[in-house]
Amino acid sequence: MADCARLRQMMVEQQIIRRGVGDPRLWAAMRAVPRERFVPEDVRSLAYEDRPLPVEAGQTISQPYIVARMIEAAAISPEDRVLEVGAGSGYAAAVMSRLAAHVFAVERIAELTALAEGRMKALGYDNVSIGLGDGTAGWAEKAPFDAILVAAGGPGVPPPLREQLAIGGRLVMPVGDGGEQQLVRLIRKDEEEFDLTVLEAVRFVPLIGAHGWKDGNADP
Ligand code: SAH
Repeated sequence: MADCARLRQMMVEQQIIRRGVGDPRLWAAMRAVPRERFVPEDVRSLAYEDRPLPVEAGQTISQPYIVARMIEAAAISPEDRVLEVGAGSGYAAAVMSRLAAHVFAVERIAELTALAEGRMKALGYDNVSIGLGDGTAGWAEKAPFDAILVAAGGPGVPPPLREQLAIGGRLVMPVGDGGEQQLVRLIRKDEEEFDLTVLEAVRFVPLIGAHGWKDGNADP
């Protein structure tokens, strides 16, 4: 896998650093996590391409740059407890596990949770917990979270996720319907007040659940 290590260095240099992601801890995390282990065999040779890739169960692994932008926007510190909604392949959760105290990642498709769990175990990433279920409800028993990343596009920020955000916590999520969404960041100022910033236009698979879209279409 010497080749993958070289491709990974190039990915971080060309797709992450050169495009302005400025956090050296994040560069190190992305240099460390073997992305090729998070994609199906048939697309392994494309693991370090500058694009999302198809994974199992008709889902996608996000483009490396988008993973980096979202994690950078969430400003994760070593003592943070992080929630990810939409664990998918587990790649973003694995990167965040190198930056945070613990990552709780929820995924609604059982095939994907099993694969992600196996990957964490094989790589020795023991500060990641993968949960099966509707992540639009958050993970109440593990709340509050210092950072929440939602890796699928929904009609709005699910109220349970707002509630499970710690004071000072950051939530990053694509909001909007159809093909394109706006990546937004919500910072919790105090019990009642949240600050919203729109970051950039993005394309994600739909967030499906009680506080997302209904299964099979884009109607909330
Ligand atoms: N973070 C992933 C990208 C995941 S793609 C990675 O690094 O590879 C988005 C994922 O969100 C899909 O796997 C999809 O099944 C999942 N998803 C969609 N709605 C969800 C919900 N309500 N709860 C949990 N997972 C959800």
